[in-house]
Amino acid sequence: MTVKTYEDDNIFAKIIAGDLPCHKVYEDDKTLAFMDIMPQAKGHVLIIPKQKAVELSQLEPEYASAVFMTAKKVMAAQRQVFERDGIMQMQLNGAEAGQTVFHYHVHLIPSNFHELGKHATTQADMAELAEQAKQLREAIEAAQ
Ligand code: 5GP
Repeated sequence: MTVKTYEDDNIFAKIIAGDLPCHKVYEDDKTLAFMDIMPQAKGHVLIIPKQKAVELSQLEPEYASAVFMTAKKVMAAQRQVFERDGIMQMQLNGAEAGQTVFHYHVHLIPSNFHELGKHATTQADMAELAEQAKQLREAIEAAQ
């Protein structure tokens, strides 16, 4: 099986380029973290590399490392803000696995696995997402 070709007009590439908005949680030179617009639980965040990679097999080591450093910051902030002990880390490779956006991303979802909502199904209230992103940003800044 061959890996899908990276397409420059995917939604997350447009978010990185600033052509589409997002509720930003954290950004550095190699990564961006933002609220998932159709969360599977309250506080669902996506972490993406600023590298053109469809899936894990294409991710360069320096970007893999950067994604996980950012994920650790986000996870600590989620624990604090949402007071959840359980933070699910999910990452889907390929349409068969359920991947719907073909730019590599890690999901961090404050949830019990058995309470998880449906994947990419129901759009959240934008004001709530904005407030959650603000709280997470403040928690990350306070920890630095
Ligand atoms: P995947 O199925 O590729 O693992 O996950 C893609 C995720 O992106 C889904 O959880 C879906 O809710 C989210 N998503 C899809 N479109 C948008 C968008 O335009 N903005 C944001 N913030 N998230 C999106």
